[in-house]
Amino acid sequence: MIVRHPNIKRLQRYHTRLPAHGRSHALGSCCLTVRAEPHVDATVDNLVIGAGVVGLAIAARLSRHGSTLVLERNPAFGMETSSRNSEVIHAGIYYPPTSLKTQLCIRGNRLLYSLCAQHNISHRRTGKWIVATNVDQAAYLYDMKQRVDDLGVPVRFLSRKNVTEAEPNVIAHTVLESPTTGIVDSHALMACLEGLITTHGGDIAYRTLVASITPSSKGGYLIRTSDPTPFLVHARHVINAAGLYADDIASTLLPASQVPKIYPCKGTYYTFARNPQPVKRLVYPVPEKNLKGLGVHATVDMAGQVKFGPNAVYVGCKDDVTAVEDNELRESFAFAIGKYLRGVTKEDLRVDYAGVRPKLSSPTDPFHDFHIESPLSFRGFVNLMGIESPGLTASLAIAERVEGMLGYRDARNL
Ligand SMILES: Cc1cc2nc3c(=O)[nH]c(=O)nc-3n(C[C@H](O)[C@H](O)[C@H](O)COP(=O)(O)OP(=O)(O)OC[C@H]3O[C@@H](n4cnc5c(N)ncnc54)[C@H](O)[C@@H]3O)c2cc1C
Repeated sequence: MIVRHPNIKRLQRYHTRLPAHGRSHALGSCCLTVRAEPHVDATVDNLVIGAGVVGLAIAARLSRHGSTLVLERNPAFGMETSSRNSEVIHAGIYYPPTSLKTQLCIRGNRLLYSLCAQHNISHRRTGKWIVATNVDQAAYLYDMKQRVDDLGVPVRFLSRKNVTEAEPNVIAHTVLESPTTGIVDSHALMACLEGLITTHGGDIAYRTLVASITPSSKGGYLIRTSDPTPFLVHARHVINAAGLYADDIASTLLPASQVPKIYPCKGTYYTFARNPQPVKRLVYPVPEKNLKGLGVHATVDMAGQVKFGPNAVYVGCKDDVTAVEDNELRESFAFAIGKYLRGVTKEDLRVDYAGVRPKLSSPTDPFHDFHIESPLSFRGFVNLMGIESPGLTASLAIAERVEGMLGYRDARNL
């Protein structure tokens, strides 16, 4: 048995030498010519690329059905977008009703609260206020309420008395409350998913960079890793959950016309750097047009620390996560916050961290949904792209969907 990869010791149990022979190979409706099969180091049923929250959630489900391996280039899970977000469990109230973002967020919200309760993952049903500061914005909230009522997601208007008693610093014309919004310790969530993967017999190979996917003459796919040691895995199913880099991965397999472009869009956070904290719950302004971002909002973490953000700035570089003190940005945050919260000055704000959204819409495009597809000519390959917010909330529902797309049937939550 030859397993050359130093980080995948447990892969030995999947190891098989596949016979090397070349033949014409039909995948779905498309005929692809596949070259002679090279030596394969390991073979698995399900291979997931990326150990962010989405890849982990998918692998946690798939590992109940067959041998499952996650390949992640970083030394640990969740070192990219999944640890650079607001950690909000969204209710699913912002996006077009039939969109995947809405449907998977609503389902994911329920699945996530249930998983948190079952596995003692730190979380809190804080509730969230969406605050209109003038009549036009209030009209937006009335429209929103009607849309959200139709979806069966609970929201309610608050009286002025309720608002001033509960959050005296909030400046509001009208407040719509979403009681099913909350927060979750995303690291604890991912640690739980990692544990479930291994409990179900799956594996994660860290420090392993995927270089390409090609169709195999045996059916399924060959996944080549390039760093630190070249390694070849054969998998029946491949799931591309590589986040911001999912387009690079997809381009090695799919024709360019089937790979959407990713527009990195950076969001920076500021913390409120003195006590007492100005609010106890999540407070959001009415969102920006095209839902580019949800506006500079106030969130609290599990310790009650308030942070503001993220803003939304399209950037040229996917790994531009630097968060540096910038007086102009600090002023613009204080200005945006001052519209719905009193007593927050720019001196109260300290730059904290930044995350980058893998957007599928350019600054001028309208709304774009999650892209979760198994192209007809590439059976067994599931491509996930544009998994921006509410991807953390939706992760367990995305996993359920991918499981169904691959033909597995399982009604159980994790
Ligand atoms: C500023 C911001 C705020 C947000 N707030 C919220 C929120 O409050 N609530 C919410 O529900 N969602 C939120 N989101 C969205 C949420 O964070 C994402 O949808 C989610 O984290 C996406 O997870 P992922 O697993 O798809 O991607 P990632 O976390 O990016 O994981 C992808 C993984 O793939 C790996 N990878 C990439 N290329 C390769 C390769 N070639 N080989 C091996 N591994 C590779 C990466 O190293 C990475 O670990 C927010 C996002 C941002 C940016």
